[in-house]
Amino acid sequence: MNIYADNAATTKVSEAAINAMTACMKDSYGNPSSLHSEGQKAAKVLLEARQKMAARLGCDPKEVFFTSGGTEADNQALFSAAALGKKKGKTHIVSTAIEHHAISHTLDKLAKQGFEVTLLPVPENGVVEPETLKAALREDTCLCSIMFANNEIGTIQPVEEIGKLCRERGILFHTDAVAAAGYLPIDLGVLPIDLLSLSAHKFHGPKGAGLLYARKGIKVQSMLEGGSQESGKRAGTENLPGIVGMAAAFEEACGEMAENAAGLKALQDQLIAGLEKIPHALLSGDRNRRLPGNVHFCFEGIEGESLLLLCDQKGIRASSGSACTSGALEPSHVLLAIGRSHEIAHGSLRLTLSHQNTEEEVSYMIEAISEVVTKLRQFSPVWKDLEEGKKKHAI
Ligand SMILES: *Cc1c(COP(=O)(O)O)cnc(C)c1O
Repeated sequence: MNIYADNAATTKVSEAAINAMTACMKDSYGNPSSLHSEGQKAAKVLLEARQKMAARLGCDPKEVFFTSGGTEADNQALFSAAALGKKKGKTHIVSTAIEHHAISHTLDKLAKQGFEVTLLPVPENGVVEPETLKAALREDTCLCSIMFANNEIGTIQPVEEIGKLCRERGILFHTDAVAAAGYLPIDLGVLPIDLLSLSAHKFHGPKGAGLLYARKGIKVQSMLEGGSQESGKRAGTENLPGIVGMAAAFEEACGEMAENAAGLKALQDQLIAGLEKIPHALLSGDRNRRLPGNVHFCFEGIEGESLLLLCDQKGIRASSGSACTSGALEPSHVLLAIGRSHEIAHGSLRLTLSHQNTEEEVSYMIEAISEVVTKLRQFSPVWKDLEEGKKKHAI
């Protein structure tokens, strides 16, 4: 049994993406900056990929800057917007307590450089309240960065309302759409978003390719010194196979979005219903406002790490939170932010499905995880205390 249920960490590269990348490496090996015909062939392929991404995002190809992935796009968005703010004497930034580390660590750095950062509290359902944001926005706020959907608990944020609040006040709005892109409709022609990041490997494209969308008129700052690729905003020879693979995967994901979402929602409902039957288990994040493939639970009285390892032995590839956090003993900052105690947060399990998963796999996972939780609780001193009434159940 080999069930891959960790699609929020990364996804299996699709056949369409592999084929497009192979063809690109074989036939378009030139450097897009070279003036000879082999270079120009590669430049054409690069332009086509940019046009494909822009068409699917509802923006202009000139607003697309290819990067090495979501992390780089997030860094570039925040440093660029902060620099623009500083020029105008505005040094206040608003974000949330549930952002990916690519955002939160960049904000830490900006704070050290003198920016004032307000992290909005997030209620238990994992959805940011526009009213809370409204109250936090100030005259000197230059940037608001709030993710489109959360990568751990899957909650979808009200980006349209958030963007509107920012736009009314002339504040730049960046959204980390890495977890959402390819799964939720994103129309930049309609949504009031100024800067957006996405990453290919989260929607069945290759690792090491992503993009930053910057609305026309927003001056993006280059993070690297070197050549004048990407209109001088991202030096270094373009990762053409990666970019081409991303465009193929994105076209596929967007083309099949509705169908995939319906299938994923059915699997998600089945999995949530099954895992909820385990006693003292709690679903994390809003039941309805969540990414279609995301299932996240906390189980009382057990350790997430042991749960993961035993699941792995049974052929289930899962996660205890974000891949960047696992391995560390600190519980997830997202779970703490939505009010879970350290103890409860330690017993977390994230299962993120793809359209390749099946009903049979979900049935197997429900059975296997129920067994594993029961087994781990038998050896858990915390569980013993709970059962003997020495400690009160929190969930
Ligand atoms: C994965 C992820 C990132 C980082 O993207 P990389 O391409 O792996 O650098 C950033 N933000 C979110 C929400 C993610 O899920």
